[in-house]
Amino acid sequence: MIRVRSTCAGHFFPPTLFFNSLPFPAMDCDILVIGAGIMGLSSAYHLKRLNPKKRVVLIERLGAPGQGSTAKSAGGFRDLLLSGTNRILAEATIDWFRHIQAETEHNLKMHNTTYLYLLGVTQYARRKPLFEEMEKVGLKLKTFSPKELKGHIPGLVIDFSGDEEAEMMGIESIEAGVQGINCGSVDTDSLSRCLEALFLGLGGEVHYGTTADRLLLGARKALDIPGEPFVWQKALVKGAETSLGEIRAMTTVVAAGVWSERLLDPIGFDSMMRPKKRCMYVLKDPRLKRLLYTRGFNSDKVLPVTQIPDAGVYLKGDLSEGSIWVGVTEDLGREYRLEDDPQAEEETYSGNAYHALVKYLPSFEGVRPVNMWAGQRAVNGFDKIPVVEGMPGLIYVGAATGNGIMKCDSLGRIVAAYYAGAKDAKLYGERRVRVSDISVKNRRVEKERF
Ligand SMILES: Cc1cc2nc3c(=O)[nH]c(=O)nc-3n(C[C@H](O)[C@H](O)[C@H](O)COP(=O)(O)OP(=O)(O)OC[C@H]3O[C@@H](n4cnc5c(N)ncnc54)[C@H](O)[C@@H]3O)c2cc1C
Repeated sequence: MIRVRSTCAGHFFPPTLFFNSLPFPAMDCDILVIGAGIMGLSSAYHLKRLNPKKRVVLIERLGAPGQGSTAKSAGGFRDLLLSGTNRILAEATIDWFRHIQAETEHNLKMHNTTYLYLLGVTQYARRKPLFEEMEKVGLKLKTFSPKELKGHIPGLVIDFSGDEEAEMMGIESIEAGVQGINCGSVDTDSLSRCLEALFLGLGGEVHYGTTADRLLLGARKALDIPGEPFVWQKALVKGAETSLGEIRAMTTVVAAGVWSERLLDPIGFDSMMRPKKRCMYVLKDPRLKRLLYTRGFNSDKVLPVTQIPDAGVYLKGDLSEGSIWVGVTEDLGREYRLEDDPQAEEETYSGNAYHALVKYLPSFEGVRPVNMWAGQRAVNGFDKIPVVEGMPGLIYVGAATGNGIMKCDSLGRIVAAYYAGAKDAKLYGERRVRVSDISVKNRRVEKERF
């Protein structure tokens, strides 16, 4: 074991945090968690919290926590969801964020900036019944007229009547703005480091720079004959072959994000998701200052996470750098493909999303991104709800469909409940969810319609 200086955090790793580059003799543990993204970190923390005597080992191929898709995300959270199960996962996690932010020493850089959906005529007609449904179940919403929106958002164009180009592009005048109040964002690096600290504080072990190459599949009653498990034997996962050597574990948790399929496909276990790239662009320019510091929506006096009508674009005001992030959410036309290091194409912004964005907000005209990146969403195209499923010796968590940050605490607790064989998982704030509801075999969820 070598103690090294972390390149990302700029501090020395604490004693239970290892960066290994040498072969290791076979290591036994009770629980092996593969992947220190937000799902793996949360799962490892709750597993260790509820099983303090068990040896819980978390491995991650990269050099620090949350450097995969977690680092690429916008860190947004919202309770505006229509599926009851989906909503409870998010609501409980948002409350947990609030608890961590207000009642512990960890700073998640949580901002209740709210979400704002700007809606064209047709889109508002289509979505109004959904917003009414949300209000009926108690979600806090506020509706703004086009005039109010114009008053609040500097430079926003709300009326496209007589604009032939807008008509050609299918751009409609804004009919309303609907604001979700219990929404905002956290800093995903701070969140990852908080979960890592909570896990290490309980005596959990983390090995960075450690890749799981394949899962070890064996027989429950092993006969030590080559070729096991045979079809007539009960198969189970016994750990993983890793860059450190074999790590044998009673239970292996696969939380490797979009890369989970690389471990699960070879053993014939379905990860129920497909990877799809999403790009993010950072714009910083004096012309955007007034827009960034939009007033009237939140106490931070910053632009809410704002969805531009039917344009496949959303904006997020980033106070730490004084910039605006532009997320492009194209769906059809963007292939499903697993990549190790996805890159953002400038063309997706400047030759594509930009055209619609400048129609609504001309202040973006001529402003070029100062930074950009891409990550991959683990898309469950069937019902858009995450999955926790298992087989003997294995628990898989994933398929969060672009919403994993805002459900991370709940999913970690469900993994721990699955491990315990519990029927229900206790989520933050005395909420409960049936563990099998988000399984594959006994799935019982309403599809997410929003
Ligand atoms: C552009 C973009 C914006 C997003 N915005 C939001 C948002 O606003 N709100 C929200 O809730 N969600 C958002 N998401 C989704 C969110 O980022 C994901 O749902 C979440 O990060 C998934 O976490 P994870 O732990 O499953 O995956 P990851 O964070 O990718 O973690 C998996 C980890 O496993 C490691 N790993 C993989 N294979 C191996 C192996 N064989 N051995 C060892 N380690 C391995 C990887 O290096 C990685 O660190 C966004 C996603 C993108 C791409």
